[in-house]
Amino acid sequence: MDISKAERKQIENEMIFRRLNEKVGDDLGALDAMHIEDGNLHLIRDELLMLRFKCECSDENCDARIPLELNKYQKIHEDRDTFIVIVNHQVDPIEKVISVEDHYNIVKKNNSTAEPGSTLNQTSIDNS
Ligand SMILES: [Zn+2]
Repeated sequence: MDISKAERKQIENEMIFRRLNEKVGDDLGALDAMHIEDGNLHLIRDELLMLRFKCECSDENCDARIPLELNKYQKIHEDRDTFIVIVNHQVDPIEKVISVEDHYNIVKKNNSTAEPGSTLNQTSIDNS
């Protein structure tokens, strides 16, 4: 199934946001390495450090933040098709919610693979 230009753009936006978030994690890792080198072990970040990640939804103007521990963020993103978005920021045609957390949703891309429509979900549509 082909995705529209608009949907392609939305997916690209999400990937850009995710890259920004991942860079934060990478930079912190580099900072840790520096502290170890300098013998400043007390400056190494807490594993449970709470960061405010950018919402990874497809709206390029979205400025929402999701407070999340870095190690949890990295765990979620071990799957390259998963993103974190603020509740209701998911876009139905391009992704589906696979997990609902306290203040954000974990979504998975529908169109990231070439598989032809094998993963369509059968959820009922609520038009109310
Ligand atoms: Zn958003």
